[in-house]
Amino acid sequence: MTTLLERASRLTLDLLFPPQCAICRRDGMLLCELCIATLPLAEAPRCDRCWEDVVHGSLCSHCAQEAPSFQAARAPYTHDDGARTLVHLLKYQGLTSLAEPMAQLMTSYVDGVSLDLVVPVPLHGGRQRARGYNQSSLLARHIARGSDLAFDDRAARRVGATRQLVHSMDRNERSRIVDGAFRADPSRVEGRRVLLIDDVMTTGATMRACSMALLESGAASVQALTFVRA
Ligand SMILES: [Zn+2]
Ligand SMILES: [Zn+2]
Repeated sequence: MTTLLERASRLTLDLLFPPQCAICRRDGMLLCELCIATLPLAEAPRCDRCWEDVVHGSLCSHCAQEAPSFQAARAPYTHDDGARTLVHLLKYQGLTSLAEPMAQLMTSYVDGVSLDLVVPVPLHGGRQRARGYNQSSLLARHIARGSDLAFDDRAARRVGATRQLVHSMDRNERSRIVDGAFRADPSRVEGRRVLLIDDVMTTGATMRACSMALLESGAASVQALTFVRA
C-alpha cells in the first residue's frame, strides 16, 4: 500500500517537477504510452524454459541438453532500444521511480502462475552500498504489490564478491563466476513457490545459480522474471 504521506509527497514533487517521459522527454508521465507501445517485445518463438529466442521447437539447445534449475523464465522485452534505455536509467542513473511503471509492464507475465513469494536477485553488499539500492529489489517490491504477493529481499543473499559479468563473457565463464555465489534462508523460502526477479537476463547463469540456492534451501519451485531478455 502506498501511504498517504508517500502520495502527498509525490503529488508535491509532481507539481514542482512535472514528470517527463524517461525516453522521449514529453511532459506528463514518467513513461508515456507512445514509448511503451514501441518497446521491443520479446516475441515468439522462444524457449519454453529459458526464453532464449529459438528458430523452431519449444526448447533451445541448452535446455534440451540440461533443464535449468528454474521452472521457466520470462521477460516482456528484449535488451534493445527503449527497453535498454530504461534498464540503464534505473540501474546506473538513479532513476528509481522508473521501477514502478517497469514492474507494471512485467506483472502480466505472471498472471495465472501460482506463486507465494517475490524475491529479488541480491546484489553483493559492497555493490549495493555503492549504488545505494538494488534495482531488482525495487522491481520485485512493486511486482509483489501489484500481484498481491509477499515480498522478501532477505530470502537470498550473495556470499563473497563476484566479478561483474560483462557482455563479452561466454556462457561457461559466466556460470563459473556465479556458481555458488548465492545462499538462501530456509526459514524464509521452505515450501514457497518463488518468483525470482532481476532486471536483465543474459545467458541465465545468475538466474540459474540463484534459483539453485533457493531450491537447495527448500523452495517448492522458482519462476524467473526479468524486464529484458538479452
Ligand atoms: Zn515517451
Ligand atoms: Zn532454453
